[in-house]
Amino acid sequence: MTSDTHVGSHEDSHEEVVFVRDEPSGLRAIIAIHSTALGPSLGGVRFWRYAEEADALADVLRLSEAMTYKAAVAGLHVGGGKCVVMVDDPDRPRDDALLVALGHAIDELGGRYLAAEDVGATPHDMDVMAGVTPWITGVDVEAGGSGDPSPATAVGVRAAMRAVIRQIHGDGARLAGRHIVIHGVGHVGAALARMLATDGVQLTLADRAPGRAEAVAAEVGAAVVGPHLALALECDILAPCALGPVIDIPTVDRLQCLAVCGAANNQLAGVDVDDLLTVRDILYAPDFVVNAGGIINLTEEFVGYSEARALARAEDIEGTTASVLARARAEGIAPGRAAVALAQERIAHEGHGRWNPGDPAEWTNGRPLVTLRP
Ligand code: NAD
Repeated sequence: MTSDTHVGSHEDSHEEVVFVRDEPSGLRAIIAIHSTALGPSLGGVRFWRYAEEADALADVLRLSEAMTYKAAVAGLHVGGGKCVVMVDDPDRPRDDALLVALGHAIDELGGRYLAAEDVGATPHDMDVMAGVTPWITGVDVEAGGSGDPSPATAVGVRAAMRAVIRQIHGDGARLAGRHIVIHGVGHVGAALARMLATDGVQLTLADRAPGRAEAVAAEVGAAVVGPHLALALECDILAPCALGPVIDIPTVDRLQCLAVCGAANNQLAGVDVDDLLTVRDILYAPDFVVNAGGIINLTEEFVGYSEARALARAEDIEGTTASVLARARAEGIAPGRAAVALAQERIAHEGHGRWNPGDPAEWTNGRPLVTLRP
């Protein structure tokens, strides 16, 4: 079972949970809408093998709640939702009939849940669903979508790193000359490495895929180490940009970094790890604050996608990260806890209760008119 962040009470705070079954296609899915207080819920469709339906339910409840907090902290006018599809083998291509049935189930929610690509989902899956419902985000730029979110995510991570360095070294501090270790140089990690190299950062890269770190390192002028060693290197920032939780309690003892700030979802094994990092005086920039560039990129679709505007919005993550870290320090709490508190306060102050699509005349190109903060 996987999850995106360690946030959340997982108590029964969800607005709506839909169990989807379609016998002819074999579809078994759960769509969870955690909150639409700030706008329509947005979140990925995950294809995953679950041992039990109860595991799928626990996953979708936690993931959708995490999406609410991610969007709220990022200042977006969207809520949190998620869909998990129970499959025997996430890597095996899906029958179109299953995807069409899922598209119809999403369509029935009338825009209260906006789907995006997540673990296991392919562009083909999303294209087939987009054929039966307008409530699919992240389609190709040519099709009016926002395309690959990785560049915006990388811009956001770099922006968060600037806030981290200032929090540690004071206001005038810069990224130039710092040593940053990137653990995982896929879409986001490689884009991040290219940007940081232009900032004059000293880089060390690691990836478990043979030759991948070496290829990026040759391009940007970086050192390469194995993934296990990468976690124990002395550096300013360790940037987890791979998959799954990489920092658990025993790993915290090995860390030699001043801060952890990266794109990976679920990079800490639990909230107790966040607490332990705080005790060890290792600054943790919460993953769901740092990697919000992807969701920022998606929401730009609703007002007519512009890459330049999406990237500019992703730069705002610097300010968001700075306020989360400052609050954590002021209150003596772990940054992950400070970020959740910030999200909950925004929902309490700005939330409008249950969101409904309302008058279709207010929709843009068949999509809800979602306005971002000014
Ligand atoms: P990706 O699949 O393109 O890259 C992941 C890289 O990590 C691959 O090169 C892979 O070989 C490597 N890797 C996997 N496990 C590893 C391990 N144990 N040790 C070392 N390397 C390992 O994924 P991505 O799109 O770059 O996303 C990276 C992370 O950021 C993921 O956790 C993803 O959920 C998160 N994220 C991505 C986006 C986005 O815009 N793509 C947005 C938000 C969050």
